[in-house]
Amino acid sequence: MGILESILKNVVLEEATISEKVKLSESVYKIRLANDKIANADFIPGYFLRLGIGIGREDLALKDKVRSYSVWDINRAEGYIDLAIATHSNGIGSKWVANCNTGDTVYFKWKKGNFLLDDTADSYLMIGDLSALSHLYVINRHFSDNKQVTGIVYSQSSSDFFEDVDGKSPFNFYQLQQNPYEEIVERIKELTPKMAGKKLVYLAGDSRLCVSLNNFFRKELNWETNEIKTKPFWNPVKKGLE
Ligand SMILES: Cc1cc2nc3c(=O)[nH]c(=O)nc-3n(C[C@H](O)[C@H](O)[C@H](O)COP(=O)(O)OP(=O)(O)OC[C@H]3O[C@@H](n4cnc5c(N)ncnc54)[C@H](O)[C@@H]3O)c2cc1C
Repeated sequence: MGILESILKNVVLEEATISEKVKLSESVYKIRLANDKIANADFIPGYFLRLGIGIGREDLALKDKVRSYSVWDINRAEGYIDLAIATHSNGIGSKWVANCNTGDTVYFKWKKGNFLLDDTADSYLMIGDLSALSHLYVINRHFSDNKQVTGIVYSQSSSDFFEDVDGKSPFNFYQLQQNPYEEIVERIKELTPKMAGKKLVYLAGDSRLCVSLNNFFRKELNWETNEIKTKPFWNPVKKGLE
């Protein structure tokens, strides 16, 4: 193990054990991470982890040792975090999740970012692909009561979708090819006139769609920048984002 990786593992990253692994759908796994420190973890819905999936693997470049995954659920009393990891990328993160086992040790670091719960609006539109579904779910679960929430979530196959941790499916699922700008814009045009009061849209997942839809909201619908929250989760010409 190189010196940089050794520092990462022993100084920068926290250690956890995989206490559960469940296949949620054709292409998504739930991974439960447990450790003693989770009981005292600071958490706002939208926080994510940098997971050291390649730590200890000599065959991987440093940039391929870490990938980002959103905290889908946290249970402080029992000391665990749940992640939902999609495998469409076929990259090292995807291979790691398919092959990892309960009892394995993993290394991670908390990340906060600013794609977080914002409870100040009255109506919300949540748009994303499979990689962003757990992130949109955890934010939606933490909205106060009486919010108006609609979700547009898409994937190439209907067998990709999975329910939230409470067994509910609060969003509309669409079977669409990658980067389905036209189809999503049609849905947006139907849904946005029905949004009442102060509104906010969350856009996450494929960076191409994040950029084009952000432009659509600002330029075509004249939404203000502070009414749009955007977080690209992956980019077709890059490996691992952030
Ligand atoms: C803040 C944040 C939170 C995230 N949370 C989650 C999460 O909870 N669950 C989750 O599954 N992902 C999540 N992601 C996305 C995840 O980190 C990336 O998809 C990651 O690149 C996958 O790593 P990989 O090694 O499997 O593929 P990489 O080696 O990074 O990529 C291989 C190829 O696949 C493409 N690719 C990457 N992701 C996808 C995808 N989802 N669909 C299709 N093609 C893809 C890449 O562009 C590249 O061409 C998050 C990303 C960010 C920035």
